[in-house]
Amino acid sequence: MDEFGIIETIFRPLAAKGAPAFNLENDTAVYTPPKGHDLVLTKDAMIEGVHYPGNLKPEDIAKRLLRANLSDLAAAGAKPVGYLLGIMAGATMDAAWLKGFAKGLREDQEKFGISLFGGDTTSGSKTTCLSLTALGIVPTGKALTRKGAKPGDLLCVSGSIGDAGLGLQSLQDKIPANPYLEARFKTPDPRVALGRSLIGVAGAAIDISDGLLADITHLLVSSGVAAEVYLYEIPLSREALEVVGKPQDRILELLAGGDDYELAFTVPKAHRMALGKISRTLDLPISVIGEIKAGKGLTLFDKNNKKVAVKNTGYRHFK
Ligand code: ADP
Ligand code: MG
Repeated sequence: MDEFGIIETIFRPLAAKGAPAFNLENDTAVYTPPKGHDLVLTKDAMIEGVHYPGNLKPEDIAKRLLRANLSDLAAAGAKPVGYLLGIMAGATMDAAWLKGFAKGLREDQEKFGISLFGGDTTSGSKTTCLSLTALGIVPTGKALTRKGAKPGDLLCVSGSIGDAGLGLQSLQDKIPANPYLEARFKTPDPRVALGRSLIGVAGAAIDISDGLLADITHLLVSSGVAAEVYLYEIPLSREALEVVGKPQDRILELLAGGDDYELAFTVPKAHRMALGKISRTLDLPISVIGEIKAGKGLTLFDKNNKKVAVKNTGYRHFK
């Protein structure tokens, strides 16, 4: 299958016949956001062997790539509408791989109500590189950002933290196999509904892709504030606790693991009641893990109100 065969048989069925994608028979897509909305755009790239193990099923690779982007849209409070896909095919990519990849995309397109707007397909590199640009919409001027946290705000986080990092270790046979943790790595749940309900409630938001403490630090820097974080309030799943046990140094390891795709956000205390309602409506735990303070930096406290030193907050490229 050449480039055009791939576009025709694999990707065309994922695109709309008319606008925005014009059956992928056009050079560009044309998208008109509904009146009174801003367009929200994000891109995430993944390299085989760096961001995912090469033996991950193509269905799951597709979902992870798409969901990582939808998580960014969730942090903005945006409703996803579509995406553009860049494929730089490596040596292991063949027709069967592409079919599996497209199946994963199709399932998630249906789950999230989005379609393929376009993309580009090339080959020549040894490892596969994938890049996806997602588009979403949000009422004009209302997009949540990392800026907007104020001293006195509650610092909150959704779901549970550290599962995905352990899931990757399970996939790499570093810990006993654990299907729950592996699923949290392979197919994270972007918190799209939560993000949308946080518009008008949250001051600032970020999604957790690099590690909880690293990403909260990004939010603090953007907002020009500090935070006190209570280690014992950070939500851990039963499965994660079974792996790490109680000792605190291993819990810190979890907080530096990335790929959870939960949301961290700040809420003025006046909106505390709204949080309980959102959590019940979405059937999603929301934990208050700290408080925003004036100043700079993140201070972590243990149960005895002792400061906990943090050496490694998360993953970074070009280290
Ligand atoms: P160009 O020559 O301008 O780069 P292409 O021939 O690469 O255009 O693309 C033709 C059409 O196919 C365009 O509509 C493009 O958006 C779409 N397309 C190409 N590759 C992909 C892909 N991987 N996923 C989705 N759409 C694609
Ligand atoms: Mg062209």
